[in-house]
Amino acid sequence: MTRTQTSEDLFDRARRIVPGGVNSPVRAFGAVGGTPRFMASGEGPYITDVDGNRYVDLVCSWGPMILGHRHPAVVAAIEEALGRGLSFGTATEGEVLLAEEIVSRVAPVERVRLVSSGTEATMSAVRLARGFTGRSKVVKFAGCYHGHVDALLASAGSGVVTFGLPDTPGVTGASAADTIVLPYNALDAVEEAFRTFEIACVITEACPANMGVVPPAEGFNRRLRELCTEHGALLIIDEVLTGFRVSAAGWYGLDPVEADLMTFGKVMGGGLPAAAFGGRADVMAALAPEGPVYQAGTLSGNPLACAAGLATLRACDDDVYDRVDASALVIGRAASDALAAAGVPHRLQRAGNLFSIFFTDQPVTDFDSARTQNAAAYRAFFHSMLDQGVYLPPSAYEAWFLSAAHDDEALTRIAEALPIAAKAAA
Ligand code: PLP
Repeated sequence: MTRTQTSEDLFDRARRIVPGGVNSPVRAFGAVGGTPRFMASGEGPYITDVDGNRYVDLVCSWGPMILGHRHPAVVAAIEEALGRGLSFGTATEGEVLLAEEIVSRVAPVERVRLVSSGTEATMSAVRLARGFTGRSKVVKFAGCYHGHVDALLASAGSGVVTFGLPDTPGVTGASAADTIVLPYNALDAVEEAFRTFEIACVITEACPANMGVVPPAEGFNRRLRELCTEHGALLIIDEVLTGFRVSAAGWYGLDPVEADLMTFGKVMGGGLPAAAFGGRADVMAALAPEGPVYQAGTLSGNPLACAAGLATLRACDDDVYDRVDASALVIGRAASDALAAAGVPHRLQRAGNLFSIFFTDQPVTDFDSARTQNAAAYRAFFHSMLDQGVYLPPSAYEAWFLSAAHDDEALTRIAEALPIAAKAAA
């Protein structure tokens, strides 16, 4: 028996009937190797696997758990909603409350529509932008992830400004052909794209964190705004990851660029499936049933998800953001110091309370530079941390997520593990 025997057994069973044994690819530990841990429970900053091993959680469900696991206010709100029923397929008060909460925090969002995943939010926002402008072409940036929407799973073609190529089998050339993939932070490429094509919308992560954290260059989002306005295109700022995590108003609270449409997910569902897209009132009016652009969902605005999301947003006061900001500062610095002491080439990149460590000595400004990482070094680092009871993202291309529940004890456990993991990565 190993100390992860139950996870290993479950993984064997899962692999027979679930592709890769997981329901979302990065959970499979493909980039780091080894058996993925099957989690049984979570409490505050900790998650515990089915063999009883406890880990300080630096994934936080890929962002949503900003209050930590089983926050009492969120659990109470879900239990209260549970007592009233699970799903009605009708309008409910909870949807109005959650929509009002979002609209009151993020000024460009005058009206909003609730959905169940970030993918649905970006897919619907792009459809709406196309329907509203009557145009087809979408600009996206290499390394920005917007969920697994066909049109957004496109890689850059050979030129700087070129049509996208399908990123995965199953996305047709036709669906990728209306996508223009540009290098991140490259305004000259955006300008050239606008000179060359009639563009429906530009979609960008508010601050990319899906190739590791790559902050927008000073003024980048603002210039995208200007270019979209000049050319009659819509700007979609994707805040699925940053929304309500980096501040009460998300990235918009740190860099208030007025998007036409914005997308949200993760924190706004408090750990249950809730997401949203919203923006200019006149654009949102094009959505069914007011307008002609169709969009719908059986479980959209689900009562439990709305209750969890609303309780989470209401509990996210200044103290929560202060705590997450401070912990991110401490852990980012501790990781960088430990790697420096062990002589491991790396770069710490921060944006608000988001940060990631790139295992490279090159500045990372786009997807190409992010890919200069030493995968073997990250693998060794990850497994040493895991063995010491710290659960890092099982990929070097992810942000490290903290919560307000990460207290001194949890932070100390991380800080003590880092020098040993850094030596393992050297
Ligand atoms: N947009 C961004 C910026 C994301 O980070 C993600 C998920 O990681 C998505 C969209 C897709 O969200 P979901 O996984 O809920 O479909």
